[in-house]
Amino acid sequence: MNEPIQDGWLASARRCPSPNYNDRPAGEAISLLVVHNISLPPGEFGGGYIEAFFCNQLPVNRHPYFEQIRDLKVSAHLLIDREGEAIQFVPFDRRAWHAGASTFQGRDECNDFSVGIELEGADQVPYTDAQYQRLAEVAGLLLSRYPAMTPERITGHSDIAPGRKTDPGPAFDWDYFRAQLAQRL
Ligand SMILES: [Zn+2]
Repeated sequence: MNEPIQDGWLASARRCPSPNYNDRPAGEAISLLVVHNISLPPGEFGGGYIEAFFCNQLPVNRHPYFEQIRDLKVSAHLLIDREGEAIQFVPFDRRAWHAGASTFQGRDECNDFSVGIELEGADQVPYTDAQYQRLAEVAGLLLSRYPAMTPERITGHSDIAPGRKTDPGPAFDWDYFRAQLAQRL
């Protein structure tokens, strides 16, 4: 019974349930993985503000930037922090609110059919190897659990929302990530 993914939750992740989710369309297969980055305040790591933000508990008086995003209701399924720890906010079988207006291969509303993983980071800052390894591990588990998700259906937020989003940015080494993933498939 030690399934790596149980009832949509990654067994190895710490859970931080977010209220920011809803149901996927009936019968929708999970078929896309979207890689993002986030840091709060922007460019700063640690502090626990991403978790607070996704749970609508951001202490808005701590930083001027927090005032700008205080009313946003967003989430991702998972966050991978700089140490490679995974924190899960929404079960994979529910619809997290990470992609916004988006299109993948002609289909809009990527939140309907995707899993969103945030890397704690910034577009121009190299990601840690712990993050690449954890992302590859989790992606491998997701591909195994959700067969409609394939290596070709792993994309960046900037690819499904071009002109609007830039993450995970040029710092994300897709070739290295895909090589790490391939070793696990
Ligand atoms: Zn994003």
